[in-house]
Amino acid sequence: MFEEVSQGLVYETLRTYNRVPFAAYKHYNRLMRSVSFFDIPFSMTFEEFVDILKKGTRQIDRESRIKVLLSVKTAELFFVFSPLNISSVEEGVNVKISKIRRIPDLSTPPSLKITGRTDILLARREIGECYDVILTGVNGQVCEGSFSNVFLVKEGRLITPSIESGILDGITRENVIKLANRLEIPLEERFVWVWELFEADEMFLTHTSAGIVPVRRLNDHLFFEEEPGPITSTLMENFEPFVLNLEEN
Ligand code: PMP
Repeated sequence: MFEEVSQGLVYETLRTYNRVPFAAYKHYNRLMRSVSFFDIPFSMTFEEFVDILKKGTRQIDRESRIKVLLSVKTAELFFVFSPLNISSVEEGVNVKISKIRRIPDLSTPPSLKITGRTDILLARREIGECYDVILTGVNGQVCEGSFSNVFLVKEGRLITPSIESGILDGITRENVIKLANRLEIPLEERFVWVWELFEADEMFLTHTSAGIVPVRRLNDHLFFEEEPGPITSTLMENFEPFVLNLEEN
């Protein structure tokens, strides 16, 4: 597989809920967007994709995490199934601002999920004891975590960097936005300055494996001692029942 890794891979990370692969269609779609961007000679129907996911997850006797990797060069496809291990995140995690700026990649938009992005690889080396690190753009805007999207709450409003900030359009991010709309929480998608994070009332990250991850501390700034703020808590309580009832799964 070394050859494929060095040539670049398009990838997706999925998880199961109640042992059923979650949001398979959205992941399939995002994978296919990358396939068409790179003109990879690869085709697979959604039914075939789901079939492989179902067979693989059946082999694991608890919730699974699935990595789907597709070689840009050879169009070979790999599925890696493993038990889903989520460390307890409800009590909040520590994150920090990375020294690494998002390098605008003129050839591949950040919305494509590919391995080997230099900025992400360098940022991940700074994680250390933190849960994740936050990449910022050359203009000082907040982009995203090295494997997560970023949300903040200010005076009852939910705010998240827009896609134009140069981010991956995370599937969990999209679901949180839908949930916020359902709960009538006012939402802004826009450029977010780094200092706004430090002035925020609440902050959380989103990614497939763990869902909504409340941030307890950003650098030296403490958001909460005991429990995440009210909007983060409300979204966390409602997230799983909400997404499991979405029609498109
Ligand atoms: N941003 C980056 C750079 C990521 O790697 C991920 C994880 N796939 C995310 C955001 C979160 O995306 P999702 O909610 O689709 O897992």
